[in-house]
Amino acid sequence: MRQTGIFAGRAQVVYPYGRYGWTRGGGKVWHGGLDLVGLDDTTVRMPYYKGKRITGRVVRARIVTDRRDKTWEWGWYVCVQLDSAQTPDAVNFLYFAHCEKLLVQAGQTVTSGDALAVMGNTGNAAGGYKHCHLEVRATAGGTGLDPTAYAGCENAVGIYGAAAKLQTITIGPVSQGDADAVKALCDARGLTAAGLYTSKWA
Ligand SMILES: [Zn+2]
Repeated sequence: MRQTGIFAGRAQVVYPYGRYGWTRGGGKVWHGGLDLVGLDDTTVRMPYYKGKRITGRVVRARIVTDRRDKTWEWGWYVCVQLDSAQTPDAVNFLYFAHCEKLLVQAGQTVTSGDALAVMGNTGNAAGGYKHCHLEVRATAGGTGLDPTAYAGCENAVGIYGAAAKLQTITIGPVSQGDADAVKALCDARGLTAAGLYTSKWA
């Protein structure tokens, strides 16, 4: 499946970036990120930048429970610091918040497509459904910048990307011997392990 932003397959924007009052606070809370739901896969992945592969290092992979620290709202989150000169914009830090489970540890190097976490609704996640709050910043303590170049979609509610399409090619009728030969070839080419070969007998 082709990756759309931080998910393989389709991603849904539920709450856009930079809006007031979408989630809570009587219309006074500014939303510094993009709320994304993975429709075909729940694994949160290191994004591309407008299709370009980028690299970075995990600097935070944790949950903060002390509510005096505002980052408690993110629940389980991952922060990736981009390596130098990865993108032409001001962004240096990527945040992936409200995760159910983290799949990386601080200190790990990551590149586009790498699994970082499993989508969840930990912390002060709005809406009561699983999503990832994707936020991008110039500095670790800064405010959220426009994340759409990393999310691979518009800053608007909607569904983006393409669903996985598997083509079915049927051959038959074949003898057991022919079927065994086809299966052996698929095994040899790795198609069985990749899920690209299945066998159904009528
Ligand atoms: Zn959010």
